[in-house]
Amino acid sequence: MFQTLTRTMLSATAFTAAAVAGGCLVSWLLGSAMPWPSLVGAGIAAGTMAAVALAVVARSSGAFRARLESTRTAEAVASAPRWLRPTARTLVGCLERMAVREDAWKTRERDLEIRARVAESGREQAEAVLAVMDEAVLVVNEFQEVVVCNAAAGRLLSCDSEAAPGRPLSDIVQDSTLRRIIVETMDAQSTGVRQAELMLGEGADAIACEATVGCILDQKDRVSAAVAVLHDLTREREIAQMKSEFVSKASHELRTPLSSMRACVEMLVDGEAQDEGTREDFYGIIQTETERLARLVDNMLNISRIEAGIIEIDRTRVDLGSVLEQAVRTIEPQASEKGQTLHADLSPVDLNVSGDCDMLLQVVVNLLSNAVKYTPEGGRIVVTADSDNLARCVHVGVQDTGLGIPPADVDRIFEKFYRVENYKRVAKGTGLGLNLCRHIVETVHGGQIGLESTLGMGSRFWFTVPMGRVEAPRVAA
Ligand code: ADP
Repeated sequence: MFQTLTRTMLSATAFTAAAVAGGCLVSWLLGSAMPWPSLVGAGIAAGTMAAVALAVVARSSGAFRARLESTRTAEAVASAPRWLRPTARTLVGCLERMAVREDAWKTRERDLEIRARVAESGREQAEAVLAVMDEAVLVVNEFQEVVVCNAAAGRLLSCDSEAAPGRPLSDIVQDSTLRRIIVETMDAQSTGVRQAELMLGEGADAIACEATVGCILDQKDRVSAAVAVLHDLTREREIAQMKSEFVSKASHELRTPLSSMRACVEMLVDGEAQDEGTREDFYGIIQTETERLARLVDNMLNISRIEAGIIEIDRTRVDLGSVLEQAVRTIEPQASEKGQTLHADLSPVDLNVSGDCDMLLQVVVNLLSNAVKYTPEGGRIVVTADSDNLARCVHVGVQDTGLGIPPADVDRIFEKFYRVENYKRVAKGTGLGLNLCRHIVETVHGGQIGLESTLGMGSRFWFTVPMGRVEAPRVAA
């Protein structure tokens, strides 16, 4: 209501203004020929006519525009006054063409938006993959500027990977050989890949790595960038060295019993053992060495099975008290032979754990057997067990009054084939027993193993086994 009133008042004002303006114009044009009142009257009349004509035109074109906006078709043309139709037709044609173009642009805009989103998510995915990759990846553009430097490349090249993009290659890659390979690969303008082994860095900190460099070509087959993938060879070289050390130590340990067996057999074959007593001695040596060989092979197989995760574990509820008593019974004869006292001091508490009974027995037997071997005659060996309710585990200790272990050897005593040099004469061994114990306790049972020792006073080996719940046995693959 208020709007209609305002519009009517505005129209009336515009109409009056147009009439007065028309009157003044006519008065001015004919000012010299007529008296001024007639002139003003004629002017007002002419102005009124002009205003009416303008209003009619405005109304018709307004109606036409309204029609056009709602339909944009030939109907709009038909609704226009006859004299306005040719112009209306042209206008409608233009507008229709513009509408078609507008639709096309909108479709294209949507298409570009979708493509931009796809490209953005692809870029984010590529960045995420590059970030978690172990391999170092470096992308360099044709102007020898770094475009991509992932976290691994940052670590290997000792640079800030996030600040690297946009910086010159020479700032990021200090190694001249790697820079040369990247530049040469780009200069070659081919899709071929170059590979080289490099030492990044200097001295003891130098890292051996393998570089693979290839080019990225643009749509016109021109080189637009080079990609360098750097593979750190440190771990592989360590593993290769460990393998060769293992093979050489294992062969050495296997050769020792084999040599004594061969010597005995040769003497028996050559008839050098004249009397029955000597022959009995030789048979005894062959038997001992055969057992040692078998133990060595068994230990090696068990360790490698545990390391490979394919050992068969028969996990049940195990009373460690009974296991310790059984181990004491097994080792008792050896201890008595050396005049040693061996006894178990078990806490009268629940010593049940979740584990593999045979494997846990093997740990205790190994520790007790070592205690007997490295304790002089008349020594004392005690095996203890108690539960630690706070840590939810059972704690087992094997204490002897033997040779003790030199402090320098303590940290390495659980390594494969490690033996205290001076004790090799004291007793025969494989150097695998403690390593197997550690694997059984830590890898298989999730416990801990350790030792305290004072040279010349004795040692106390200990291990813990979580009480845990009984899990389903894991079957070997
Ligand atoms: P081995 O078959 O040689 O006994 P182990 O792995 O069981 O192999 O032990 C590794 C080495 O640790 C032994 O050779 C010995 O030098 C040392 N050792 C183990 N137990 C004791 C101990 N109770 N007292 C002194 N030295 C020990």
